[in-house]
Amino acid sequence: MKRWLQRLGEKMRAWMYGRYGYDELSKFLSIIALVCIFLSLFVPLLYPIALIALIWSMFRGFSRNIEKRQKEREAYLKFTGNLKQSFKRRKNMWRDRKTHRYYKCPSCKNWLRVPKGKGQIEITCPVCKGKLTRKT
Ligand SMILES: [Zn+2]
Repeated sequence: MKRWLQRLGEKMRAWMYGRYGYDELSKFLSIIALVCIFLSLFVPLLYPIALIALIWSMFRGFSRNIEKRQKEREAYLKFTGNLKQSFKRRKNMWRDRKTHRYYKCPSCKNWLRVPKGKGQIEITCPVCKGKLTRKT
């Protein structure tokens, strides 16, 4: 039995050789699949979504087109990173709502935090050195 398991393990490794494997996006898809399978007990419409997520996750893992899978992973990480950043900024805006104001730089889209209650002020963007005048 132990030998058989060992041989099976070796065969699996040989089969996975040169294939992409598991990453953050595959993990996310697996979680989506599990959640959808569970929820499909109540909402049958979610079952096909679960299957698609599961098949997509497996397809990515067994894929030999590693370059393309890495690009998908990068896009996914960038997207979730932006989402996290945006969430964090909103949290900070809420925390500072009584003491500071937030403005978006019109030229470089960077967020600028300025103290509240200073009247009309000229704000210089620290990134692009662009200027904007706002009432705080
Ligand atoms: Zn700027």
